[in-house]
Amino acid sequence: MAAAAQTDLPSRPGRRLLRRAAPWVLVLLCCIAVAVLAWRWTESAATDKLRLAGAQRLDSYAVSLENLLSKYDFLPGTLELNKDVIALLQRPDDEALRADVNAYLEQVNRLSRSTTIYIVNLQGLTQASSNWRQPDSFVGDNVAFRPYVRDALRRTPGGFYGVGTTRGEPGYFFAHGIYHNGRMLGVATVKVNIETLENGWVQGADKVMLTDAHGVVFLSSVQDWKYRTLAPLSAEVLQELEVSRQYFSHALLPLGMRALRKLDNGATIVATPAPADHARMLSQTRSLAPRKWQFVYLSDLAPAEASARNAFLFTLLSEALLLMLVLYGRQRRRLGRQRQRARVDLQRAYDHLETMVAERTASLQQMTHNLSEENVVRRQAEQKLRQAQSELVQAGKMAVLGQMSAGITHELNQPLTALRTMSDNARVLIERGRLDEAKDNLTTISELVGRMGALTGQLRQFARKSDASLRPVPVAAAITAALFLVERRVEQERVNFRMSMLSQDVYALCDSNRLEQVLVNLFTNALDAMAGCEVRQLAVSVTRSFNKAMIAVSDTGPGIPASVRGHLFEPFFTTKPQGQGLGLGLAISEQIIREFGGQLLAESTTAGGARFIIELPIAQQETA
Ligand code: ADP
Repeated sequence: MAAAAQTDLPSRPGRRLLRRAAPWVLVLLCCIAVAVLAWRWTESAATDKLRLAGAQRLDSYAVSLENLLSKYDFLPGTLELNKDVIALLQRPDDEALRADVNAYLEQVNRLSRSTTIYIVNLQGLTQASSNWRQPDSFVGDNVAFRPYVRDALRRTPGGFYGVGTTRGEPGYFFAHGIYHNGRMLGVATVKVNIETLENGWVQGADKVMLTDAHGVVFLSSVQDWKYRTLAPLSAEVLQELEVSRQYFSHALLPLGMRALRKLDNGATIVATPAPADHARMLSQTRSLAPRKWQFVYLSDLAPAEASARNAFLFTLLSEALLLMLVLYGRQRRRLGRQRQRARVDLQRAYDHLETMVAERTASLQQMTHNLSEENVVRRQAEQKLRQAQSELVQAGKMAVLGQMSAGITHELNQPLTALRTMSDNARVLIERGRLDEAKDNLTTISELVGRMGALTGQLRQFARKSDASLRPVPVAAAITAALFLVERRVEQERVNFRMSMLSQDVYALCDSNRLEQVLVNLFTNALDAMAGCEVRQLAVSVTRSFNKAMIAVSDTGPGIPASVRGHLFEPFFTTKPQGQGLGLGLAISEQIIREFGGQLLAESTTAGGARFIIELPIAQQETA
C-alpha cells in the first residue's frame, strides 16, 4: 500500500496540470484547425478563380489560332484552278511557264499575306515558288521528306508546323494535292507564320505555351522555353523528327517542369523551370483536337498563396481576439461573483460587528451600572472614614487635653487660691478703711479672672470640632495660640524658648484649629523628650520657599533613634510609660497635614535633638 501511495504521489500534480491544460490545448488545436481550413478554402477558391480565368484565356487563344489557320486552309486547294499551274506540272521543262507560275504564286502570296507558296511535283521536287526571286528560293528543292507533302501525296490534306530547312524560319505548312481530271499532278503548299500570335499572349507573371503531339513547345510567351519538350522524347519519336526535320537543328531538350500536385478539377500545380525558377504555378491544358496540339496555360499562384496565408493569419487573429473576448467576459463574470461574495461577507461581518457592539454596549452599561453602585459604596465608605478620622482627631485632642489636665488643674488652682487670699485680704482692707490697697487687690483679682477666662476659652477653642474647609491662616497667629496652651509648662520646666519669624506674615492654606492641634502635639512631644535633659531649648522657625510655608519645631532632647524613626507616624506607637502616651499624636498630625496638601517630616538636629518640619501650601489670598 505504502509503495503504491509513493508511486502515485509524484504523478498527481502532473495529472492535475494536464487536466487543467487539456481544454486549452483542445481549444488551441481547434483554432489552428479552423485557421488551416480557412487557408485551404481561400487557396482553393483563389485557385479556382485562377483556373477559370486561365480557361477563358485558353479558349480565346484557341479561337484566335483556329481563326488564323482556317483563313489559309482553303488556299492550297484553289491553286489547281490556275491552268498555268496544271500546265507547268505537265510540262516541267517549260521555263516560260515556270516564270508565269512563279509570278502568279508571288502575287497570291502577297495578297494572302502568307510566308511562302510553292508547287511540288509528285517526286517532291519544287516546280515553282513565290520566293523565286530570292537567292534561297525553294525552286528546285526536294521536300518529299516533309510529312505534309507525303500526306498530300497520299491524298490527305497535309497540315504541319515546322521550322524551315532553308532559312530556319518556323511556320505552319498547309499542303493539298493538285488534280487534273481526277489525276494527281503534284502538291500545292502554303507556309504561314503563326509566331505573330505570341504577341497577343499574356505578358507578366502568367505564361502560355503551345505544344505539338509529342509535347514539343513550338510557341511560347517565354522565348527560352521554345523547342523544349514537356517530357523527354522517346528514341523513335526523335528518329521520326530527325527524318522529317520538323524542328530542323533544335536540340529538343526537356523543359524540366515538375508536377507537384494534381488538383481535382484537372489542373496541376507545377514548379517552373528557368527563367521563372521554381515558381509554383497552376498548369492547365486545352487540346486542339484535329492537330493534336495542346495549349498549356500557367497561372502565377503567388497572389493566391498570399491571400491564403493572409486568410490563415486573419483567422488566427480573429480567433485570438474572440478568445480574448471570451476570457475577458469570463474574468468579468468571475470578478462580479467575487465582488458579490465580498459584499455578502462584508454584510455578514458588519452584522456580526453590530451584534458585538450591542453586546459590548450592554456589558459596558452593566459595568457602568456596577461602577456607579461601587462608587456609591465607596463614597459611603469614604464618608465613614472621614467621620472616623474626624472622631480620631477629636480623640487625639481629648488625649492631649487629658495629658494636659494635671497642668491645667494646677493652672486654675493657683489663681483660685490667690483669688481666695486676695478677696479675703480685700475684705479686711475695706473693713480697715485701706481702700486704695483694697482697690489694687481687686484689680489683681480681675486680672487673674481674665487670665483664667482666656485659658478656658483657649481650651474650649481647642476642643471644638472643626469643619473640613480650608482657608488662609496666618502661621504666626497659629503658633502663638498653640504656645499659649503650653506656656505654663515651658515656664515651669525652665525651657529656653526661641522663635524666629519672617518679617512679613506668612499665610498657609489650612484650618487654624487643626494646625494648632498639630503644633500643640509637637510642642508637648518636645517638652516630654527634654524632661530629663539638662539643656532644654525649644525653637520654632517659619520660612518659605516658592509656594510652600515651612514651620520647624526643634528641641535639644535625646533625638529619635533609628529603631523608632520607621514607626513614628504609626498609630498607637509610643515609647512613653503606660498612661502617659497613646501613640496617636504624630499619626493624627501627619494625617491632618496631608489633608492640607502638605507633609510632616522628622529629622535629627546637629546637636542630636529632634526636628519636626511642617510643610504647607502658601495661600493665594496672602498677596491679596
Ligand atoms: P505619644 O506622645 O502619645 O507617645 P506620639 O505619636 O506623639 O505619641 O509620639 C510617638 C513617639 O514618638 C513618642 O512615644 C516618642 O518616642 C517619639 N517622639 C515624639 N516626639 C519626639 C521628640 N521631640 N523627641 C524624641 N522622641 C519623640
